[in-house]
Amino acid sequence: MREEIRKSEKLNIISDLAASIAHEVRNPLTVVRGFIQLAQSTMDEDNRRYMRTAISELDRAEFIISDYLNFAKPELEHLERVNIAVEVRNIVTFMTSYATMQAVELTLDVEDTLYVFVDKVKFKQVIINLVKNSVEAIRQGGRIEVRAHRNGDCVQVTVIDNGEGMTAEQVERLGKPFYSTKEKGTGLGLMVTFRIVEAMSGTLTFESEKGRGTQATITVPFATKKDNFKRRNHDAGDESSH
Ligand code: ADP
Ligand code: MG
Repeated sequence: MREEIRKSEKLNIISDLAASIAHEVRNPLTVVRGFIQLAQSTMDEDNRRYMRTAISELDRAEFIISDYLNFAKPELEHLERVNIAVEVRNIVTFMTSYATMQAVELTLDVEDTLYVFVDKVKFKQVIINLVKNSVEAIRQGGRIEVRAHRNGDCVQVTVIDNGEGMTAEQVERLGKPFYSTKEKGTGLGLMVTFRIVEAMSGTLTFESEKGRGTQATITVPFATKKDNFKRRNHDAGDESSH
């Protein structure tokens, strides 16, 4: 237990540090990108090509920094009672062209009413992270199915892919900071994802088989109208209501 506390304190320090570094580094990157774009207009085609590469590498740096920033601030700030059926549908629609570009078929199986207490933006990030990992685990054409259903007092969202899968040892390492098997991976996506799901009072579990595919399951409590009422009164500091 003590060891765990120490670990989470350490993570908090890393989070704060990451947030300030990310913020400081982002500004000069934006300036450099701007000047490169300006300079491009005076260059011949060869040099322009070099500059395009430079810009795309700058964009990659920006992408890594975004992951850090999210890692730095994973706590939920705007919890509200949301029908995530609508959110899941929107996210999957929004990601379909990305999947299609990678020759991946993305399908959806969602119930109509799935109320949960979430921060919409963070929830969106969770689904994007999971679907993105699934797309990246599929090398040559494949399928991903996103399911969302009520299961008793809970709502379950499942992302299933027929990608490269993982060994039990790899599954064990998921969510550890900087664990990545990808050349351009940050190894922060799932760490952030686990922390967001935890803040939603939920769990995230993985089942996987090497060579066959992976199933990621988010389980979060269903939020009834009554829960919403209780929570609101609680937030307003009114302890007398039932
Ligand atoms: P990143 O995507 O930057 O590598 P993540 O934290 O998102 O970092 O994922 C960590 C690692 O977990 C990945 O590099 C990959 O090895 C493994 N992984 C995650 N999701 C899947 C999946 N659906 N199928 C196979 N491997 C996965
Ligand atoms: Mg990832």
